[in-house]
Amino acid sequence: MSLAEYEGQTALVTGAGSGIGKGAALTLARGGAYVGLLGRTEDELEETLAEIRAAGGEGMVLLADVSQEDEMAKAIDRLISERKALNIVVANAGINGTWAPIDDLKPDEFDKTIAVNLRGTYLTLHHTVRHMKKSGGSIIVISSINGTRTFTSPGATAYSATKAAQFAMVQQLALELGQHGIRINAICPGAIGTEIDDNTSMRKKAQTEVPVEFPEGDIPLTGGEAGTVEDVAEVIAFLASKASRHVTGTPIWVDGGQSLLR
Ligand code: NAP
Repeated sequence: MSLAEYEGQTALVTGAGSGIGKGAALTLARGGAYVGLLGRTEDELEETLAEIRAAGGEGMVLLADVSQEDEMAKAIDRLISERKALNIVVANAGINGTWAPIDDLKPDEFDKTIAVNLRGTYLTLHHTVRHMKKSGGSIIVISSINGTRTFTSPGATAYSATKAAQFAMVQQLALELGQHGIRINAICPGAIGTEIDDNTSMRKKAQTEVPVEFPEGDIPLTGGEAGTVEDVAEVIAFLASKASRHVTGTPIWVDGGQSLLR
């Protein structure tokens, strides 16, 4: 991939104020993309934009909650009025939500995880795909090892359900959108060092924990060290680039082999 891989292209990254989304935004901007930075926390998004500009890139802050239809419609309209086109979408915003035994998990807690992770992904695609149909492009959905290969994270039922559903959407839409030259793939990260634990509430872990132990640690490639935001961002950059032009409907696990163990 050349440094100017995305020159003249416009990208949208949801949840661009921290973690994987921020890493993706910085990487795409370094490659020449103009990046729409969507999220709820203005000062974090402004900080991402400042870092992009300091490195010679450009973008704009788009304040919106991914689960709110009107906010998403307005934010994406703003990006399109400014740029006229959209080539790359990274549907990344998400929360761990509440991890608890199913008989203890409250309906509101279940609904919240579904609203942000699943409805949020739907709204992101619903409002962007119509613009991408004009020129084709690449969509990258940030799923997880949970719900795709791993089912041993204690109490993560709602979270896993959203991540499995995202993977189903990717496969369904790869067929629907192929005729428009739009590729769509999923990245399934394992443990990555981000702030996602701030968005996690865990109850009664002992009741749902499955006793699995591995003698050599649970991330074979790193001896147990979590991955970095850059480990994920570089795979996002690959899926957004021409180097992956014949890849669609495909999950890539970015987990150092973690999900093969559990
Ligand atoms: P993070 O650092 O907490 O980043 C998540 C971002 O999403 C934040 O910027 C957050 O900002 C934003 N966000 C949350 N709810 C939102 C909403 N309703 N509307 C708009 N933005 C919202 O966590 P991360 O680890 O980078 O997570 C990114 C994605 O990776 C998630 O989909 C997560 O499920 C997935 N993932 C992470 C890991 C991991 O180990 N870190 C592993 C597998 C999958 P605000 O809260 O300020 O809005």
